[in-house]
Parts: sequence; structure tokens; C-alpha cells
Amino acid sequence: MIRSILLLGLLSFCIQCKTATKIQTVDQDTVAPIAIPTVDKPKNIILMIGDGMGLGQLTAGMYYNGNKTALEKFPVIGLHKSHAGNKLITDSAAAATSFASGVKTYNGAIGVDMDTVAVETVLEKAEKKGLATGLIATSTIVHATPASFISHNKYRKNYEEIALDFMDTEIDFFAGGGKKFFDRREDERDLLKEMESNGYIICNYLTDYDNCPIDPSKNFAYLTADADPLPASQGRDYLEPITKSALPYLDNKNDNGFFLMVEGSQIDWGGHANNSEYILTEFVDFDKTVNHVLEWAKKDGETLVIVTADHETGGYAIQQESTMDSLITAFTSTYHTAVMIPVFAYGPGSATFSGIYENTAIFDKMVRALSLDNSPSTFKK
Ligand code: MG
Ligand code: ZN
Repeated sequence: MIRSILLLGLLSFCIQCKTATKIQTVDQDTVAPIAIPTVDKPKNIILMIGDGMGLGQLTAGMYYNGNKTALEKFPVIGLHKSHAGNKLITDSAAAATSFASGVKTYNGAIGVDMDTVAVETVLEKAEKKGLATGLIATSTIVHATPASFISHNKYRKNYEEIALDFMDTEIDFFAGGGKKFFDRREDERDLLKEMESNGYIICNYLTDYDNCPIDPSKNFAYLTADADPLPASQGRDYLEPITKSALPYLDNKNDNGFFLMVEGSQIDWGGHANNSEYILTEFVDFDKTVNHVLEWAKKDGETLVIVTADHETGGYAIQQESTMDSLITAFTSTYHTAVMIPVFAYGPGSATFSGIYENTAIFDKMVRALSLDNSPSTFKK
């Protein structure tokens, strides 16, 4: 035993001698460089926004849903700071403009910066590069969150002007309420008719969604309500089925990939109303859709899924004496709050979403992941 250790010692001593000699003879030019780590690039991005979904909403929603949520399946989690350019407490317009265009702006701004100058959105950049694009919401489609991805307006409530901006794009697929802002307007234009003659298939809530013809060679719009869609608890049930058909539609639209934003809009409205049941039923509707998207992305393998909120609404908290089956909740506000907001990511490029960052960084990370044009992108409207 002792002998073999000695032998081994001698041997290793000799090997070291040899190696040392060898190194001295190595030509510096032949030394292999350290490989630069490559970041996986997704082909598609699906950004899902639960409006007003803070950690309180998410936790209560999870317990309400039998102590489970699709968000538990996400491997990467970060936090974003939601503050607006002019206020610590953001509104949905400034927040969505930060996600869409990477700028901090004032509350009420739709796709414009602090000086009301239009800022190009990730959806517009994606469209410019030949990707297919889509927007789905459970509010009107001209409401602050979806509007900030496609429109540029100094004030969020200029709904008819925002609807007009849809005409400047070639968005492939959209679904949401607000039909009246398209077809019963002050300027008496019927934008839905105009879209139809531009090659869109237009479908609305009078037809059951399953009976809407979807032709992959044409663009598609589904107007889900005349004004605001109903709450899920009153029978609204389109978020998951429409998202379900949007995925293969956008995926097959062309070879360049797609960008899709899906919003669970009314979690926020439950918060404003200080109505726990409203929050929880809207969360479950959104969570179900997140689950479908995540399972689709797992099979696809080229899709980055990001789930976050624009801000928290209501200062919603779970109180003492609660049990998993019976939540006692309370609110500190009927407006939004400033707590940091969780970000969940899955798929190629998801690793960049861990950590704490500004909400504008979500735009930066998406643009980098899809290798979109990141040159200065403000323009006069
Ligand atoms: Mg919203
Ligand atoms: Zn709100």
C-alpha cells in the first residue's frame, strides 16, 4: 500500500514535470478563447398581464383555486418596480407604455413619452421585422393596457382616436370589447367595415366564438362586447378559448415568429371595487389561460412566456383568522399601490428575468430576446 502511494507520488511528480515543459512550448495563438456564453433566443414572445395582480391577489387566488396556480410552474421569478414617470403610484396606461416601449411616462399616457412624443412599441417593432402580432384583453381592446402596445395618444380615454390607430397597423389577431368605438363613431366611419375591406375577418359577440371562421391567410378580429366585457362571474368565458386558437394561428402565420400580449384586465376592477370575490374569479380565469399558454410553450420549445402585472390594486391583504378554505381579506385603498410586482418567465431567454429591475427593463429584455431594432424610436404622430 505504502509502496503504491509512493509510486503514484513519483508518477504524478513526473507528469507535472512533463506538463510544465509542454506549457512552455505552447504557442499563445493556439490557446482556445473562453467561450462567450450564448443566451437562448426565443422565436416567439407571449406577454401575459394580470392587471392589478399583486402578491396579495396572487396568493389569495392560489388558495381560492385549491392551493395551486399555474404560476408555480415557472422556473424564473423576478420583481419589477412599477412607478410612473410623474408619480410613484402608476396607472395602467403609464405602466403598459413602460412594458411596450421602455420609457417611464406620465399617468394617462398611451404609447407616448413625458413630452407626449410617440414611442415605438415592441408590437410595432415586431411587426416591422415581419413577426405576426396579437392582442387579447378582457376589457375593451382600446383600454389602457392593450392600447399602449398599438396606439399613441396623449390621453387614455380618447377611445375613438385609439381605435383609429388600429388602422395604421397590420395586427394579425385581436380580441376584446369596445365594438362601439370602431363602428359607431363621431366621425361616422365604420372601422370594422374598413378592416373587412382590408382583408380582416371580423367577428363579434353576436356570433358564438366557436362559429367564427378563422382563415390563417387572413387577419382576424373578435369584438367581444359593445363596451366593457362582462366579469367572468357573470358568464364571460372567452379568454382561454380565444388564446387557445390564437397560438396556432399566430405560430402558422409566417416563419418569423410572433409577439402576443394577453391581458386579464378585470382583476384590477375587483381591486377598485374592493370586491374580493371579483378579484378571485378573475384571477382563476387568467390563471387557467396562463396554464394553457405555458403547456403550449413547453411543447413548442421556442417561445418565451412572461407573466406579470402592471401594478397592484387595492392594497389587498389576507387577514388573521383566514384559513385556506375561507379567506378573510381587507383593502387599504380603492386605487393602485406601489408594491413591487412579481414577474414569471419560462422558455428561451427567461433567465434574464430574474432579479429586481424597473418595469421598463421588461421592454429591454423582450427587444433583446427577439433581436428587434433597439435604435431610438420616438416619432412625431
Ligand atoms: Mg388593463
Ligand atoms: Zn386600475
